[in-house]
Amino acid sequence: MTDFAQSVKQQADIVKIVEGYIRLRKAGATNYSGLCPFHKEKSPSFSVHAVRQFFHCFGCGVSGDVFTFVGKIENVTFPEAVRIVAQKCGIPLPKQEFSSPEHAAEARLRGQLLDLHETAAAWFEEQLRGPEGATAREYLAGRGLTPEGIKRFRIGYSPDSFNALRDRLSGMADPETLRASGLFSQKEQGDGTQGHIYDRFRKRVMFPIANEGGRVIAFTARALETGEKAGAKYINSPETPLYTKGQVLFNLDKAKSVIRQAGFALLVEGQMDCISVFLRGIQNVIATSGTAFTEQQVAILRRHTSNLVVNFDPDAAGANAAEKSIALLTEEGFSIRLVTLDGGLDPDRFIRERGVEAYTAAIRNARPQADYLIERARQQFPGAGAEQKVKAMNFLLPHIRRMPEKLAREQFAADAAQKLGIDSAVLREELRQAALKRRDHVETRAAALTEVERVLLRALAVIDPNDERARRLAADAITKQTAWFEHLAAFQALQALAGRQSRDPMEAVEDDAQRALLAEALLGETRPPSEAEVHGAVQEAEERWIGSQLRQLRADIAEAERRGDFAELAVLTQKKLELDRELRRLHNRRPPEKD
Ligand SMILES: [Zn+2]
Repeated sequence: MTDFAQSVKQQADIVKIVEGYIRLRKAGATNYSGLCPFHKEKSPSFSVHAVRQFFHCFGCGVSGDVFTFVGKIENVTFPEAVRIVAQKCGIPLPKQEFSSPEHAAEARLRGQLLDLHETAAAWFEEQLRGPEGATAREYLAGRGLTPEGIKRFRIGYSPDSFNALRDRLSGMADPETLRASGLFSQKEQGDGTQGHIYDRFRKRVMFPIANEGGRVIAFTARALETGEKAGAKYINSPETPLYTKGQVLFNLDKAKSVIRQAGFALLVEGQMDCISVFLRGIQNVIATSGTAFTEQQVAILRRHTSNLVVNFDPDAAGANAAEKSIALLTEEGFSIRLVTLDGGLDPDRFIRERGVEAYTAAIRNARPQADYLIERARQQFPGAGAEQKVKAMNFLLPHIRRMPEKLAREQFAADAAQKLGIDSAVLREELRQAALKRRDHVETRAAALTEVERVLLRALAVIDPNDERARRLAADAITKQTAWFEHLAAFQALQALAGRQSRDPMEAVEDDAQRALLAEALLGETRPPSEAEVHGAVQEAEERWIGSQLRQLRADIAEAERRGDFAELAVLTQKKLELDRELRRLHNRRPPEKD
């Protein structure tokens, strides 16, 4: 680790950094816990140690320091993780911090692209305020947007020009970087080489898309005119090094803290719906931008909540998107309720026509997904005929099977049978089977550590010089009587810690699996072990070692007897006597058991 990384690590608080991504609850004097962002789970097995500044998941076994966490969750390299943490803590970056030229180039490109997007967003805003933006301003006013709302979402306008934005940005970056930004299009030449670039967005209302940190990384552009000449109603930035479509939830940057407070997120289809709802005070709202949910989006959202109220458009496309999203989210253990608005209105129009109170009431009355799906089944396959009932059931069965909890599945199946009027024993049995099918997965691994290992690991990891004697006792035993400890699962970690130079024990253990064992031991700690406890643990390790030697000897003795090798037998028997005596000695020395 570089000096800079070391100093960032000392200044950063892992609890604060992790809380920027997932919800944490205080779980002990020094621990916080939450749902692991790296595997699916419903009860928290992810812990953060506030004093020792590391995280560990008892479910999937990942562990590490603040950089490991950021690296994993942002999917970036170590230098990039250091940079992100430094930025979050407001620590200025040194000029030379990137280890490899590729990292440096990658980070430089991302930095430049962010700058270009920032400048473009500001420039679009300026254009909207200017004379050319009159029609766009009218359109936005017509949709009920105030100047404050426009400013809040940084809505802008791209003028009817092929080179206005290009001229604005061309001084900021080379042509390659401008191409990579996604803000421009280009014509391919007759000879296959790339032609000049020109403005991608023209005569459109510009909605910036921000990352979770609130920085603009892409745009959605809505045409002001209709007809062939105007092109598609909406166009989006293409994928770029900054922007991957399925990995962004629109408005999450503004909504995330409110989502955590409210305990749920409101999911709408379009950006306009999202903006409209947000500006009227319902701020825990996010949008998927017209697509069904992706797994990455689920993973992002899970960090903030697992309760979702879905309000998609009531048209067929909206219902389909809702069903697809429900399917994925259900599988991922989300609890989902659905809003259906009166009069077939979308959220934007509903809230403008009926007011925010009516909308809030609609959210409060959102139906559980089972009710919603049963209703959908009845709408799609109306009538009391047997054939219709079978079709309705076939629509519902996959949804039932996806639910992770057995009780919920049984309830769903029972409701479906009742509401669809299914009286056939065969169909009822089918429903019952669907409810039985999915097995709830076990989420927490059994602890891999014995008490001996726990005590020794904790003794070796002490930071306080007052506990130095206990530490030295453990370290000496492990260094001098290595054989006693070799069979322990955490042997490598024990050995690394016994000889550790660095102050942070988590850094002394390099192997991931071994570090996970150490994390497991340290997370459960309340106080450092006493000398007597360490002594007891060492003794127990010795006893176990003797026990395993004795088992081996007995097998060897039996083998020597079988062969009739009496010389060998005499040697082995003598050894066994010595070990028996040693074991008795250990037992006698031991203080009487307390319970
Ligand atoms: Zn995990």
